[in-house]
Amino acid sequence: MKAFDFDLFVIGAGSGGVRAARIAAGHGARVAIAEESRFGGTCVIRGCVPKKLLMYTSQLGRNFAEAAGFGWRADSVLHDWSAMMAAKNAEIVRLENVYAQLLADAGVTRFRDRATIAGLHLVELGGKRISAKVILIATGAKAVKPDVPGADLMITSDDIFEMASMPRRIAIVGAGYIACEFAGIFSGLGSRVTQLYRGEQVLRGFDGEVREHLGKELVKSGIDLKLGTDVVSVARAGTALRVELANGEVLEVDAVLAATGRRPNTRHLGLEAAEVELTEGGAVKVDEYSQTTRPGMYAVGDVTDRLNLTPVAIHEGHAFADTVFGSTPRTTTYDYVPFAVFSQPQVAAVGLTEEQARGRFGNVKIFATQFKPMRTAMTRGSDSALVKLVVDAETDKVVGAHIVAADAAEVIQAIAIAMSAGATKRDFDTTIGVHPTLAEELVTLRTPR
Ligand code: FAD
Ligand code: NDP
Repeated sequence: MKAFDFDLFVIGAGSGGVRAARIAAGHGARVAIAEESRFGGTCVIRGCVPKKLLMYTSQLGRNFAEAAGFGWRADSVLHDWSAMMAAKNAEIVRLENVYAQLLADAGVTRFRDRATIAGLHLVELGGKRISAKVILIATGAKAVKPDVPGADLMITSDDIFEMASMPRRIAIVGAGYIACEFAGIFSGLGSRVTQLYRGEQVLRGFDGEVREHLGKELVKSGIDLKLGTDVVSVARAGTALRVELANGEVLEVDAVLAATGRRPNTRHLGLEAAEVELTEGGAVKVDEYSQTTRPGMYAVGDVTDRLNLTPVAIHEGHAFADTVFGSTPRTTTYDYVPFAVFSQPQVAAVGLTEEQARGRFGNVKIFATQFKPMRTAMTRGSDSALVKLVVDAETDKVVGAHIVAADAAEVIQAIAIAMSAGATKRDFDTTIGVHPTLAEELVTLRTPR
């Protein structure tokens, strides 16, 4: 039998790769991991974590504005972007070290280098070839910019985390997760935000009522949301940027953020030579056990473009390691994965949209309420929250839950547990609420529409 240098070689030390490496090592495998950038990957270095720190920064700014309604005097409030970035950077370095240490503690050999695939059981890095019985591709994805003149002048979410100063005026292209989150962040920090979206409403694919609701709330919060238009070109105009729109308008801004989706990192990785099949969108094709079309090669996380969220990449990485090195075949179930957009207000959901449920079950009951959050009582704010449940009329099972409200993300996790366990609307009704909270609306919705 051929002796390999390692039992497992993981390419990419992000959410999926790190979990897979640690768990496989725990099962007794000899594991190596290569990372071309920083340990922790997108989520830790330039995604979920720094994004949420910026979101807190922005929300605090809004809180100052509302504080007067509660009797606080905070007349001259200033924000120091550099101080915030320094604090953010220190926290990210701390987490990066934690990730590297977790790998070291698990006995995983770490390479700080780009790795490519040189053959079925062969990886190349730093001019060396290393053999491994199993190779795991966990290379994630990277932002794509629209194909328009001046696209090179646009920034992506990666660049925001390195910005030396806050843009006074910013145009944000797109209306998915990243566009809606950064529109809220910059607006709360005091930038003038114009969000451009080619479609008719933000967050395509989400529940229709949720999309309408969030669209209105974004506008109320001060974002200039321009729907049904797109960027045509970007050009320099002195120290500013001139943005031409499809509707003929011209904007002058300090930055243009392309939040127009992400592409799996499969290019120049040696996948073609290894005959690993890709999907039309350039993702690695895998089966339910994350095995590619080649034996001994697996892939998890964003590079497979299944559900591009950190907890999903982690679950896929863990399931892969248990299956291949722990003699416990496990797959990932995607049905009741809760998700949240950290816009302001937040959107959080689990299960089916009303539209999907009608398509699947025909007869559905909708329970929904819109209300003014209690916090606005003393601020004369016009915020509105939405809580919505979608119920399969035949079985009474709750098949979808949707919330638009501050802190919606904190609430949805618990609903996902109930829904995964098959909770019916009657189960929700017999549960007593916590008062006064947003979440109690979930157990007090009585009359279907
Ligand atoms: P990644 O974490 O991207 O890791 C891949 C790693 O591979 C990278 O470190 C990369 O440098 C490395 N790499 C690539 N090619 C090579 C190579 N050839 N050799 C060596 N190393 C290589 N998800 C959430 O669940 N919640 C959120 O709030 C959230 N916010 C986000 C905010 C932003 C701005 C972005 C961009 C994403 C966000 N996500 C969020 C998505 C989340 O970050 C990803 O789903 C998750 O990081 C995917 O993990 P992964 O392991 O597949 O890839
Ligand atoms: P999304 O796919 O969510 O959104 C992309 C947006 O850009 C859509 O509005 C899309 O429009 C638009 N778009 C795409 N191409 C073009 C183009 N050529 N010109 C103009 N507009 C265009 O991608 P994101 O980049 O926002 O995020 C990537 C993924 O990362 C998310 O899908 C999610 O999985 C993950 N993520 C998760 C977060 C979280 O969990 N909170 C936060 C951030 C990211 P259309 O709808 O018409 O195609």
